[in-house]
Amino acid sequence: MFPTHHLLASLVGIALLAGCSARVDYRGASLYTGFILVDPQAETSTLNSWLVIKQGAILEMGAGTPPSGDFEDVHDLSGLYGMPGLIDAHAHVTAGPLDSGIEDGSPYVGVRSGGAYARFNAAIALAFGITSIRNPGGATEANAEYDRMIATGTWVGPEAVHAGSVIEPPPFGGPSFAYPTTPEEWDAEAARQAAAGMTYFKLYTDLTEAELGEGARTAKAHGLIPIAHLNAVSWSRAVELGVEQLEHALPTSPELLEPDVRADYVNPDPTGRYMFRWFELADLGGPLVGEMIRTLAARRIHVDLTLMVQDITFHADDLTEIFPASERRYYHPESFATAMANYEAIAGLWTENEFDRARAAWPRVLELAQRLHRAGVPLMIGTDGTGGAPVYARELGHHVAAGIPVWEVLRMATARNAELMGWGDKTGRIAVGMEADLVFLRSDPVEDVRHVREVEIVVTDGHPYRADELRAVAQAILDGS
Ligand SMILES: [Zn+2]
Repeated sequence: MFPTHHLLASLVGIALLAGCSARVDYRGASLYTGFILVDPQAETSTLNSWLVIKQGAILEMGAGTPPSGDFEDVHDLSGLYGMPGLIDAHAHVTAGPLDSGIEDGSPYVGVRSGGAYARFNAAIALAFGITSIRNPGGATEANAEYDRMIATGTWVGPEAVHAGSVIEPPPFGGPSFAYPTTPEEWDAEAARQAAAGMTYFKLYTDLTEAELGEGARTAKAHGLIPIAHLNAVSWSRAVELGVEQLEHALPTSPELLEPDVRADYVNPDPTGRYMFRWFELADLGGPLVGEMIRTLAARRIHVDLTLMVQDITFHADDLTEIFPASERRYYHPESFATAMANYEAIAGLWTENEFDRARAAWPRVLELAQRLHRAGVPLMIGTDGTGGAPVYARELGHHVAAGIPVWEVLRMATARNAELMGWGDKTGRIAVGMEADLVFLRSDPVEDVRHVREVEIVVTDGHPYRADELRAVAQAILDGS
């Protein structure tokens, strides 16, 4: 009896499916066929996959024979690898070059923002498959403008969540920075950022512990998430003070070094040597770092390692491998020039021996990443660039080098980043009902995670773009058209 029942059930199922698909209205819908679906959630690659996109969302999906109907358009993607749109969780998408000026009679260092810089960054990010961005700090008005321009379709680029102007004392200034000094000023700054639609409140390297505490409290009072890039203040202390998310693999406080080696360590250190010195001296398996990692895991503190920061700094004496001449067009030339001037300054300060020591400390940076990951600290993946570009694939490669399996790194770059930025129910996964944010690659990202840079087509909110078309958009922005 069982086989008959089973057969009957199957026939009923087929009849229901047939009836169902006959009723689906495919007018205004797009069909994508023939690709290999790379699903980081299931850890599967499925040949001959198809999906239907309607009104910016995934309507149906499957493998084998695709549905037929009155589609608006059909895209044959044979030979391409389709996966969820990528997320850069640390991308200053509205930032342009470093800048200096005079504010209230005093000179300041700032960052020019918005306008053509933001448009260029957005087009390049999307060309590299980035459909969502977490921007952990930038001029509040430029960020709000970005959201308006993306929402209205005026600019082409990823959707973003932001921290507004970064909280940091002078000499940092201009619209990208703010430095409240009284309770009224703190309150006004957080209120201004919240009203402009910001999500995070970014506390920066030169704030005192008292200021970090005040910043975290004020942020939360206005519904903003306090995040921090720290330097001399320890991650453990910052968590006690209320900071909820940490940027960069730089827990470089002397307080996290065992007392017997602290005397050999200088931080604050404007020469940047602390970035490798701390890793030379730290006992990553010792009680202080161990306690810090347990605290981060227990309190669910999100950490965004941006391993590219150390990678670039440790190669500041020769950046031709990370930024080959043929790939410089993927970075805004003015921004690139001011960033390079900073790296040249480091190259002028550090001796050859110090660069050797920095590169020798690199495996310890990866070891920190691995220890955080093993302990269950929620890790986001971001670049500290302006969104995507070749450095994004390199960042993912570093996470694999840190011992995190490729499938897991692909999951972190998509669904996990989405979850940790509060967008887990709308993007980061390919599933019916999710926003149609997808990337189609020419090479298999499971074989080598760095293949995520081989983008052929990217789909954001259901709109498909060819990567070369987006690179042309970016070039036209530079050309002023
Ligand atoms: Zn940053």
